[in-house]
Amino acid sequence: MALTLPGIGPKTEIKLKKLGIESKSDLLHHFPHRYLDFSKLIPISKIKENETCTISGQIIRLNNIFTRSQKNLQKIILEDSSGQIELIWFNQSYLIKNFHLGETWSFAGIPTFYKGRLTLFSPEYGQYHTGKIIPIYPETKGLSSRWFRKTFSLHLDSLLLENVDPLPLEFLKSQGLLTQKEALNNIHFPKNQKILDQSRHRLAIDEIFSLLATAAIKKKEWQQLSPSYILKENPQNSLKIKQLIDSLPFELTTSQKEAWIEIKEDLLSSNKLCNRLLCGDVGSGKTIIALLAAYLTSLNHYQSLLLAPTEILANQHYFTFKKFLNQSTPVYLLTAHSKIPQKLEDNSIIIATHAALFQSQKLKKIALLIIDEQHKFGVKQRSFLNQTSPPHTLTMSATPIPRSISLTYFGNLDLSTLKSPPQTRLPVKTFLVPKNKIPDCYLWLQSEIEQKHTQAFIVCPFIEESENLKTIKAAKNEFEKLKKIFPTLNLALIHGKTKSDLKKEILQKFQQNKINILVTTPIIEVGIDFPNATTIIIQSADHFGLSQLHQLRGRVGRGQLQSFCYFFSEDSSLNSQKRLQFLTKNHDGFKIAEYDLQTRGPGEIFSTLQHGFPLLKLAPLSNINFIESSKKLFNELQKRYPHFDLQKLIFKENNLTKISHNLN
Ligand code: ADP
Ligand code: MG
Repeated sequence: MALTLPGIGPKTEIKLKKLGIESKSDLLHHFPHRYLDFSKLIPISKIKENETCTISGQIIRLNNIFTRSQKNLQKIILEDSSGQIELIWFNQSYLIKNFHLGETWSFAGIPTFYKGRLTLFSPEYGQYHTGKIIPIYPETKGLSSRWFRKTFSLHLDSLLLENVDPLPLEFLKSQGLLTQKEALNNIHFPKNQKILDQSRHRLAIDEIFSLLATAAIKKKEWQQLSPSYILKENPQNSLKIKQLIDSLPFELTTSQKEAWIEIKEDLLSSNKLCNRLLCGDVGSGKTIIALLAAYLTSLNHYQSLLLAPTEILANQHYFTFKKFLNQSTPVYLLTAHSKIPQKLEDNSIIIATHAALFQSQKLKKIALLIIDEQHKFGVKQRSFLNQTSPPHTLTMSATPIPRSISLTYFGNLDLSTLKSPPQTRLPVKTFLVPKNKIPDCYLWLQSEIEQKHTQAFIVCPFIEESENLKTIKAAKNEFEKLKKIFPTLNLALIHGKTKSDLKKEILQKFQQNKINILVTTPIIEVGIDFPNATTIIIQSADHFGLSQLHQLRGRVGRGQLQSFCYFFSEDSSLNSQKRLQFLTKNHDGFKIAEYDLQTRGPGEIFSTLQHGFPLLKLAPLSNINFIESSKKLFNELQKRYPHFDLQKLIFKENNLTKISHNLN
């Protein structure tokens, strides 16, 4: 619905757009972020310091005073039957024109002592802004909370005229929920705190329902597809898979075994298409699960495609697969530098980068698609596959996703979780290094490398020094500095723009321990596996989200030796230090993601996952009880009204805001 309201002209429309408001519904969903309770009308003689109040009286003096320092003050003396009070504003000379001597006005604010007397500074005034609980809105230049309060005072009724509650009245009643109309009315103009809480609760449920409905519809659509490649597990295949598992140099962890059972069940189902998210901390051993799934597919004479976000990772997966699979399983690598043959065997496993795949011929007979570190590219459509029916799909993510987020945003996917990391691993010892200890840290690293012949990563955030982030060390400059700090060691630099051949060469040398320290930008974030690298130093650690730091830390601690992680940080604020300290004490990615969610909201986790998740305005994602009870309510709704049109619950416009990528 377009925004046609009296008093909203093209200029106002432009301003509203800045706040993401383009329709009536957007305007209705522009919620206050806090409120002031000006509902108490108090005689002037009874007002108290720091207690919000509304007073009403006659204006008995009115001054616009210019001070010597080019400033001006507006002063009013207001009188009621109980006493007088002075009201003061700064630099608002236009304001005084609103008032005239002898008029009766209401003012609201928080009294403070000034020159020995209780005074109101910059009080609110006028009918829309006093004598009630007043909302404070997210503002933009030219659209103040006063503007919103007046607009809603005049137009809320007409805005709500077209509002149709998506939920059945009977259902709302049985659950003790307000109607949407009541809730919207009271979120803008709450009659009291209780009804405000109820309104926020109702509207928060609408937000969760919107996500749940989206997921439920997607899931249903997916469920209606049936697999065109039906996999089977005959005794011969079973035996081969068992042999493969037995041949691994390690035993699968309990959660690996569980995940494998879940995935296998999906793949072997004759009527269900697998659409599963395999979620597990860095180093939790997702690759081997992918390998087993691909192997089962191959044994059925069908093809699998494993998509990796970077060439480095594609290469690494290729070698892992080659190493663990016997020669009768054909494995191909498809990157910018490695092509696949025109004709592929029926049982091929193709490991490809996303980019290469888009440039190559379309693949036709893929029965299983595995997407590694899916967040690195938004694989929405499977347009790179030239086939009418979608394949079984397994998505792997190293970002531990808190339960409240997986229930809502990923509700359409089945979830397998790798909890425990392989037992043989030692937790990475993690330290926060104060600025004055940085030289000591480098000295320590030098001797560590010399004595133990281990290797290290040093991570710098960006390639070039960027104007607005001056404090961030540029990797190139830093690299030159580091070479001087470690003159006897071999250092190499790779960053996002390093040419692929050179990158490959450097990584090969690093693999062979011909390079001691690899200086990089965060491109090594994803899945690299160098067991001999036991130290990672992360500069400007305060610029990263905790989940991202945790992923970076996972680059070490992959072998038998004790590994170390050092955070350097330019931000010495208590908050920032506390966040980093949390990482020094915690190694469980799920716990870290929960902490991120509690302390910084979902933005940080989303930014490590993918762009553009709709952000909730009211619903507390950090409150798992609320999410779970909303989910129950949603199930109840579907149970009671089996033909309910879920589409009605999905917010169409800006009611949830899209967040952009860099939310830090
Ligand atoms: P990620 O989940 O981050 O992709 P990987 O699959 O790369 O982790 O596994 C990390 C390392 O752990 C690899 O070297 C892999 O061989 C090893 N690994 C996997 N599973 C186990 C296990 N059950 N026991 C010991 N090591 C394992
Ligand atoms: Mg991985």
